[in-house]
Amino acid sequence: MVRELTHFIGGKHTTGTSGLFADVYDPNTGTVQARVPLAGRADTEAAISNAEDAQAEWGQWNPQRRARVLLRFLQLVEGERGSLARLLSAEHGKTVADAHGDLQRGLEVVEFAAGIPHLLKGEFTDNAGTGIDVHSLRGPLGVVAGITPFNFPAMIPLWQAAPALACGNAFVLKPSERAPSVPLRLAELFLEAGLPPGVLNVVNGGKEAVDTLLENPRVQALGFVGSTPIAAHIYATAAAHGKRAQCFGGAKNHMIVMPDADLDQAVDALIGAGYGSAGERCMAISVAVPVGEETADRLVAALKERIATLKIGRSDDPDADFGPLVSRDALHRVRRYVDIGVNEGAELVVDGRSFALEGHENGFFAGASLFDRVTPQMRVYREEIFGPVLSVVRAADFEEALRLPSEHPFGNGVAIFTRDGDTAREFTRRVNTGMVGVNVPIPVPVAYHTFGGWKKSGFGDLNQHGPDSIRFHTRTKTVTSRWPSGVKEGASFTIPTMR
Ligand code: NAD
Repeated sequence: MVRELTHFIGGKHTTGTSGLFADVYDPNTGTVQARVPLAGRADTEAAISNAEDAQAEWGQWNPQRRARVLLRFLQLVEGERGSLARLLSAEHGKTVADAHGDLQRGLEVVEFAAGIPHLLKGEFTDNAGTGIDVHSLRGPLGVVAGITPFNFPAMIPLWQAAPALACGNAFVLKPSERAPSVPLRLAELFLEAGLPPGVLNVVNGGKEAVDTLLENPRVQALGFVGSTPIAAHIYATAAAHGKRAQCFGGAKNHMIVMPDADLDQAVDALIGAGYGSAGERCMAISVAVPVGEETADRLVAALKERIATLKIGRSDDPDADFGPLVSRDALHRVRRYVDIGVNEGAELVVDGRSFALEGHENGFFAGASLFDRVTPQMRVYREEIFGPVLSVVRAADFEEALRLPSEHPFGNGVAIFTRDGDTAREFTRRVNTGMVGVNVPIPVPVAYHTFGGWKKSGFGDLNQHGPDSIRFHTRTKTVTSRWPSGVKEGASFTIPTMR
């Protein structure tokens, strides 16, 4: 049976007025499991109006009262973690265990945002000039919107919505049309937790819904996470419409393996970070950089051996290391990139192109592939593949290994594996990348620090979650005040300076 999904506007389910729908697949079988409505301009504008009306009151609630809604939401999610993880896994294709992680990483930002009474405290300077005090307030922007990718259907909507709501904004979420069910359920749970109807609206859809959010003057700010071409387009268009924007794009994350690294630990890290979630993570490692020929030979041999033991299975198979890709298009793209790498002269050590899961031949399963002797000129190195394909680029020395991620157009995450503190410190300080791991392959920062890549992986100056997310979702008002004795001085025609 094909489920019929909806939008969630003003606390109510609606299929909207566009009459357009997209299919949501079960990636394990390749069959359609649901239909999701695609919002047109009118549907999206209805969500924006609803949000604007609801924000007027929500923005006046005191921060502690708003925090209590987040705390109740956390309790409600606790009661249905299992079903949310299974729902997420069934649309995305990541394993249920990995879907739990997706949800958990999102909830940690809700926990952070529940500290909003403390986070919103302004600054105060007593006696900045004689009899003059200065203080600053941070207030909500109004209606803000978020556009999220398919690959973290719980985490990224929560990374955006929780700080936005805690700061007193209303939020319009436009999740990926490929995995819409979990974002919808999370919005229902927020309502149940006491969020007034309309403060969080979900519109499903594609370009038309996004264009409406970009152009509508009542939307004050936009957060986007997805591929780089769309991130760049959204950043530029938002700016042209006078909106604040933070847009995060694709990645090509390198892991440097120094000759002194614990090789078993490095291989474990590469297998998990390269092939986990079928490589569909913005923080996946897609390039391994062993330093020196001997390290490279040992690393490639060990990787080859480990890949042979990987278990690819249905996303609900508890023994599976990873499941299918999200769509048939993604599967074809991954196979095409392996063809490209072969034609470019990379050495294909493990070929996952012909993998098929018995009994699930129409599912979107790709086997793990491993390339050796990839060079920086190759497309398989320069472009994001977003699948279970790991490329080994051999570096002669530390300087060459440092140059590779530093000069790559993407700059999301990077890792170095070494036992030498001096090498690690030097690398951390000099590498031209937003997030760095030292013997940690996926350095996604904790919720109270911030997450964001550099170069073509991130557009805008403020990161996701942590203190940056509070700055992004508020604007500052700075008040300079003087009381009776000071206001008797008469007019002054020079710029005020503090005496
Ligand atoms: P995508 O760019 O295809 O889609 C992202 C969102 O944009 C979706 O909601 C989609 O509906 C919308 N969209 C698609 N085409 C559009 C258009 N022409 N105009 C306006 N909106 C449009 O990305 P995806 O395939 O869902 O996600 C995978 C990508 O996201 C990868 O590149 C991955 O690296 C990136 N990603 C980045 C981060 C990060 O924090 N940097 C995190 C997760 C994923």
